[in-house]
Amino acid sequence: MIKVNKDLQAVPSRLMQNVAFEQTRNAIATQNGNLYTTNYNHSTVKEALALLYHNKCAYCESSITKGAYLHVEHYRPKAKVDAKDLPLGEIHKGYYWLGNEWSNLLFSCQKCNQQGAKGNRFPIKGIRVLIHPQDPSHYSILHQSMLDEIPLLLNPELVDPLDHLYLDHEGVLYGKSEFGMVSINLYNLNRHILVLERLKIIKDFVLHIKEQLDEYDQPANPISQEYFQRQMNLIFKRIFAKQKPEIEYSFVYINIALNFDSMILPHLESKNQQEIKTAFQTFIHTIFP
Ligand SMILES: [Zn+2]
Repeated sequence: MIKVNKDLQAVPSRLMQNVAFEQTRNAIATQNGNLYTTNYNHSTVKEALALLYHNKCAYCESSITKGAYLHVEHYRPKAKVDAKDLPLGEIHKGYYWLGNEWSNLLFSCQKCNQQGAKGNRFPIKGIRVLIHPQDPSHYSILHQSMLDEIPLLLNPELVDPLDHLYLDHEGVLYGKSEFGMVSINLYNLNRHILVLERLKIIKDFVLHIKEQLDEYDQPANPISQEYFQRQMNLIFKRIFAKQKPEIEYSFVYINIALNFDSMILPHLESKNQQEIKTAFQTFIHTIFP
């Protein structure tokens, strides 16, 4: 998961049409979030989200090909909040006034959003908003009443996931905070296929390093320290080139750059670890003098 910068003013036109407002009015009048169809998931809204999210899931960063079908997801569930997130015996009809609310729409793969994963889950730490506010200007999930709910699920449009998530050298995510831990659990971010995909990126990167080490270790055909460093620099540059938001699982590359020693060195033989650690430090000093 990476930070995504959504322009909340750039609302897709479909959500500003009377047909969408009418639907929201009906949902509010009946307190029924199941009435939303054809607007929030209109092709133009989906296209706007696909562009913003580079065709990747907001939560797991899988692309449209790996994460299967990506769809428009309501961060605050529109028709029901799961009983697991409510006091015993309490019912919540969902955030039925937010079905067509741009700030509540994310882009997600089915695996992250299905029942058993996020589904209708919406755990909070603060004060639950139970019914729609009278003033429509309060619908934005940035409104104070919404912020006062203190949602436990990370929303990449509101927070930087880096502050809450940590990746280890085997591709497993850990929470740095309660928000991170709950999100890993409910979005199911350590499901087997995701851990494998992240580990594959780490191992591919390590493989390039090992290839250079093999070349460097040929006594019959020695290469200079300067040449070795130049070759390593080319490899290290990839870490930064791959941090772009359009790259699938770019969070892995961000973590390699930030935690190089703990993510890469365990994959190398101990005799090579100091050498590669020094080469990376030399590279960092070169690009950030
Ligand atoms: Zn996903």
